[in-house]
Amino acid sequence: MPSPTPSQVPVSPLRLPTTFNFARDIVDRWASESPSQIALHWTDQTLTSTKKLTYRHFSRQSHRIATLLASLGIKQGETCILISSRIPPWWEVATACLRSGVIMCPCTTLLVAKDIESRLLVSQAAAFIGDEAAVAKCLQVRRQCPKLRTVIQIEGVVYPGSEHGSEVIDFQAALEKIPPDAEYAVPLSLTPKSQALTFFTSGTTGPPKVVLHTQTSYPLAHALTGIHWLQLSPGEVYWNLSEQGWAKAAWSFFSAWNCGATLFVHDDRLAFSAERTLRVLNRFPITTLCAPPTVYRQLVLEESRKFFASEAGRPMALRHCCGAGEPLNESVIRTWKDMTGGIEIFDAYGQTETIVICANQRGNPVRPGSMGKPVPGVPLTVVDAEGNVTADEVEGDIAIVVSSGSSGDEKNAFFGMFEGYIDRATGKIDNKIKTYANGNRFFITGDRASRDSDGYFWFVGRSDDVINSSGYRIGPFEVESTLKLHPSVVESAVVSSPDPARDEVVKAFVVLTDAAFSKIKGNKEAETANLVKELQDFCKENAAPYKYPRKIEFVDAKFLPKTISGKIKRAELKALERRRFEEAKRA
Ligand code: ATP
Ligand code: MG
Repeated sequence: MPSPTPSQVPVSPLRLPTTFNFARDIVDRWASESPSQIALHWTDQTLTSTKKLTYRHFSRQSHRIATLLASLGIKQGETCILISSRIPPWWEVATACLRSGVIMCPCTTLLVAKDIESRLLVSQAAAFIGDEAAVAKCLQVRRQCPKLRTVIQIEGVVYPGSEHGSEVIDFQAALEKIPPDAEYAVPLSLTPKSQALTFFTSGTTGPPKVVLHTQTSYPLAHALTGIHWLQLSPGEVYWNLSEQGWAKAAWSFFSAWNCGATLFVHDDRLAFSAERTLRVLNRFPITTLCAPPTVYRQLVLEESRKFFASEAGRPMALRHCCGAGEPLNESVIRTWKDMTGGIEIFDAYGQTETIVICANQRGNPVRPGSMGKPVPGVPLTVVDAEGNVTADEVEGDIAIVVSSGSSGDEKNAFFGMFEGYIDRATGKIDNKIKTYANGNRFFITGDRASRDSDGYFWFVGRSDDVINSSGYRIGPFEVESTLKLHPSVVESAVVSSPDPARDEVVKAFVVLTDAAFSKIKGNKEAETANLVKELQDFCKENAAPYKYPRKIEFVDAKFLPKTISGKIKRAELKALERRRFEEAKRA
């Protein structure tokens, strides 16, 4: 391997501005430059009621809500947990928090009361803002959370005389008392590095981590996400399926509004349905779609393809599609392109901890299976165990440069990433930056990839998911993508499984199509063995033969453990394999 030189370590040309406030410098600016520009195009569950709200609306409402929060004694630097279905006040409150410096912590509506208690305690939240269902859960645990002073309900009716009426502030009623022209000046003490947002990670590898972002690390830096990956500008209408509690919803919020585009929001409260998703694309002028790979996998199934081909299933205005959150299989990209008459899915990579840092983007042809190139301005690289940049095609850790041996100036470090994790027990912030003996300092993302000679990144897997079999390192993603090419496979999860001879072998948990499953249903041993062999041979033909899954288990779709955001928890399957192995040894 050529010895790396300091010049191989990328440096970001971006500089942190001396002042920035998302509400003032983005929302108010669009509001005054183009008062009729639509910021949010909203529709309800049934698609019957719609609202088009301007940047001017969010500018005004956020001035008023910031004034309201201050009047309720919720102060800059205090945390407010926000849980609601996708209704416009979510964005009004979010903009107000950013304007006033109240730290916003969006969480998913799927949390139960116990989870809410834990999040209130970890974040030490002073306020809780939620819809009717979320507030009801919060009230069950309120007594256990002494730091929580104020509970505000933004949807549904709060009856003053009811059991909780005295404990809960009715948002709409309280807001009516704030004059429509109320002005809230951004506090002078609010700087680009002030704390602005906390998120809980998806919890794919363990308990969700608490991630702290600043007024710029997400709210401003996501302009890059909007420009390069989503390709947004005024006039584009952008729909992201992610629920409000996930960082990915914030990616959308900040990307779209930095670019002056319109966020499309469907207040969908039911379980995902491919047909409903296609109906929405058919009924509304959505130009840009972002969905997780698991959704695209459903959209390309035969049934969806049939509906897509019908009058009610054809998108009205769709021209750009994006995916992120999990690896996106090449075959899905190809099928979607066929179905849509040429729309490719632009895969991108990022984390709750970062903006989109690597993406298929404008000006670079999509290479299906690759997550594209580092987003301009992001000092992203791949490093080995000694902190040296790897040679092309050599797998290593995906890393963001904080400073390198030659340019030790951390004042100008890339600002599109988190301040650190908040330690649940002590509240201390740890930025997890790793210093190597060669003087390089990186944020190591925890994922593995290689970079080809044209600079495209190829995802291998999470560091903990990579399988070591007979001296070979095997990334689960490549094996899963190969299996997905087979017509009988809906999806799979590939993990390491203990093996007496080889130490670890590749094991695939495979979900079959209904047609394939019906052939093996009812313990048909010979048919099952034949299908296992067929899939193994298929993998040997379509990927390096040493990567084929030596063990295959056919499972029901519900068997695959997933996070509430739909990501496969491979660590749980790996643990299951270990448990089974230990039990078999004892038996
Ligand atoms: P936790 O950190 O709690 O285990 P998580 O890592 O899934 O959960 P997120 O921050 O939501 O939480 O997800 C970021 C991770 O998702 C990345 O580190 C990576 O493993 C995966 N990921 C995101 N985008 C892609 C992509 N385009 N291709 C492959 N993996 C991706
Ligand atoms: Mg993570």
